[in-house]
Amino acid sequence: MAYDDNNIFAKILKGEIPCDKVHETEHSLAFRDINPQTPVHVLVIPKGRYVSMDDFSATASDAEIADFTRAVGDVARMMDIVDNGYRILANHGEDGHQEVPHLHIHVFGGKNLGRMIKPVDK
Ligand code: AMP
Repeated sequence: MAYDDNNIFAKILKGEIPCDKVHETEHSLAFRDINPQTPVHVLVIPKGRYVSMDDFSATASDAEIADFTRAVGDVARMMDIVDNGYRILANHGEDGHQEVPHLHIHVFGGKNLGRMIKPVDK
């Protein structure tokens, strides 16, 4: 899938719409989800033009991948959810129900999250 420069997270990165920023690094930005599913719900995105983990993992530089991975860990520590535990999740494509076509890792925490995801029919 080609990258859409008008997706909502691209607009946040360009400063065209605001976000509730919690962390920023050279290659990554983290902000609170506008519709939080858990008491802590932060999205971590790379600043580069990547649709999902598919193209990010295949084409991002080592520096971007290292920065992004560290940013996710930083956010969990900053949100003080490491001791009690948390969950990270990234949706890709139609089956994954990805809504925004710019890679984002959801960081969920602040309550007991239950086991994994709901079972669905195979
Ligand atoms: P996904 O289904 O993984 O693509 O999730 C997209 C997420 O982006 C949802 O949890 C939305 O609530 C969130 N979202 C959409 N627009 C914004 C925004 N402007 N600021 C923060 N989060 C947003």
